[in-house]
Amino acid sequence: MPTLTPSELEAFPALEWPDVAPRLSPTLRSSLEKVLDTQNGDALSLEESFALADADGDDLLGLLVAADLLRSELAGNLVTYVVNRNINFTNVCFVGCKFCAFSRGPRESDAYFLTFDQVAQKAVEAWQLGATEVCIQGGLPHGLPPFYYRDILRAVKNAVPRMHIHAFSPMEIVYGVELTGMPLADYLSMLRDNGLGTLPGTAAEILDDEVRHILSANKLSTAQWVEVIRTAHRCGIRTTSTMMYGHTETPAHWVRQMLLLREIQRETGGFTEFVPLGFVHQNTLLFQQGLARSGPTLAEHLKVHALARVLLAGSINNIQVSWVKLNRKLSQLCLHAGANDYGGTLMEENISREAGATAGQYTSPADFQSLILEMGRIPAERNTIYTRINLKSPLEAFTAEEALRAEFA
Ligand code: SF4
Repeated sequence: MPTLTPSELEAFPALEWPDVAPRLSPTLRSSLEKVLDTQNGDALSLEESFALADADGDDLLGLLVAADLLRSELAGNLVTYVVNRNINFTNVCFVGCKFCAFSRGPRESDAYFLTFDQVAQKAVEAWQLGATEVCIQGGLPHGLPPFYYRDILRAVKNAVPRMHIHAFSPMEIVYGVELTGMPLADYLSMLRDNGLGTLPGTAAEILDDEVRHILSANKLSTAQWVEVIRTAHRCGIRTTSTMMYGHTETPAHWVRQMLLLREIQRETGGFTEFVPLGFVHQNTLLFQQGLARSGPTLAEHLKVHALARVLLAGSINNIQVSWVKLNRKLSQLCLHAGANDYGGTLMEENISREAGATAGQYTSPADFQSLILEMGRIPAERNTIYTRINLKSPLEAFTAEEALRAEFA
């Protein structure tokens, strides 16, 4: 099939399934129809899933349109977001991921380390500005006091008892286990008992050890990532799930990762959402050393979000756009290609900015609301685990059908 030009691709939100279905190759159409009928990505074989990941031309348009249809059936017309603040307590890190432009050596002039009081103060400010969540992650410095992560939680909870703490990547958890010598489940339970609400499923990148070795030879392995996530879920700590795309990986890696996440979700039900993270290449060694392409193309951004909606249908029904890594228009297009969540307002976002992302540090709730209304969807503020959702728009602005869909979404 001929590859689409960017303007042909960008026009896909105007298409409806009956317009595009007759133009698809028969096998791809039948795969998409199976998922549309069952609302379950499990209906597809591995080969069918790989074929979707390779879709091009009209087939790609079909994938995007089917994903949007599934989104409306599984997640309604709401676009949710959480009001939160990112707190990156230090940029000092020994891990040396080649895709990371955030980390610093301890003696670099712009290395920093926040005190517990500073972290707590940031949480207090965030609460006063209406945040319901703080997302706390940092670099991994050598010689961290063994119970450092627990003590951050205590500092924040003492200052703002009702703040939801979404904190510590699986890499930080592995480091905490190493520092304390505690068994993983005991360590996670201790963090939970000291105020950890949920865990970001970051540090996943691509869950394939060959790719991981290129990205970061010192990072935790696929098996370790899976073990931390499964154990967290078993300890009652829900997590997000992520995937970084647009560097050295192939579409087959996307499929395998989504199927792995689906398998974990079937066992534990612990994932709240899936967050595709586009690789921001500009200031990274990975790109400068010629080891990676220059980030995802428009087709890849759209395809990854749509593929996630289709393959994860019936298991992870919240697909998030990471707006800091995309621009305004692209994030809206991804929300038309299967995504239903805008992520966090992020009063501070250091990591993507250091790598060269330009989407800015903060999108106010009012900005989110107007971006969402512009798309004809309904803005809604949510809590971290999607159990509390407040519509942010007078329902009279929508037709009865749209409003009803929103209410039961
Ligand atoms: S991604 Fe995280 S672990 Fe890797 S170098 Fe950057 S701060 Fe360190």
